[in-house]
Amino acid sequence: MMKAKILIVEDEPAIQELLAFNVMQAGFHALRAEDADSAWRQIRDHAPDLILLDWMLPDTSGVVLAKQLRADAATRDIPIIMLTARGEERDKVLGLESGADDYITKPFSPRELMARIRAVLRRHVPQMPDETVAAGGLELSPSSHRVTAGGGAIELGPTEFRLLHFFMTHAERVYSRTQLLDQVWGTQVFVEERTVDVHIRRLRAAMEPLGMDGLIQTVRGSGYRFSAS
Ligand code: CA
Repeated sequence: MMKAKILIVEDEPAIQELLAFNVMQAGFHALRAEDADSAWRQIRDHAPDLILLDWMLPDTSGVVLAKQLRADAATRDIPIIMLTARGEERDKVLGLESGADDYITKPFSPRELMARIRAVLRRHVPQMPDETVAAGGLELSPSSHRVTAGGGAIELGPTEFRLLHFFMTHAERVYSRTQLLDQVWGTQVFVEERTVDVHIRRLRAAMEPLGMDGLIQTVRGSGYRFSAS
């Protein structure tokens, strides 16, 4: 599993350092910015999975930046946790109205912050239920990460596994690349559409030895469909 990238937008060096330390300790990758300009640069270059955003920044305020992030299609799905020294209810409401997913008041314990980060990340990753699904002669079990067909097994990477799970639970319908990105990749909004084609190719290649690759059909000009017919 890839490490989630957390962008820390904080102008006070000591607090930025402390946050980065805790984020890395928790097993995430830490990106840093000290103002809105450098935050945008980091977002464009590294596509963070979550943003820790300080309320008080030297140029643009955290609230304004959160609103800008929400207004931009490329960044609107990145979860935001606002950080602030203020504790008043009015500010909390303002922060959440600006588009933040959660809010934490300084000083905070690293444990509380990490719990919030994990909760927000979980909410944004498309969930896969545990039940085994069957379609088109395939059986897929999320709990054991196994796909079988007849007597044979199909070995899949995590993305192909999610993709096949989505197809099997949404058979006979055509999905565009954008729809598949939303449904399977979730909030990793910077993934390009052609990434979908790459994973479809890998999925078909894995299914081919069992003669099942025809289940994934290309619908010209529209996208892809899982069909047993
Ligand atoms: Ca600050």
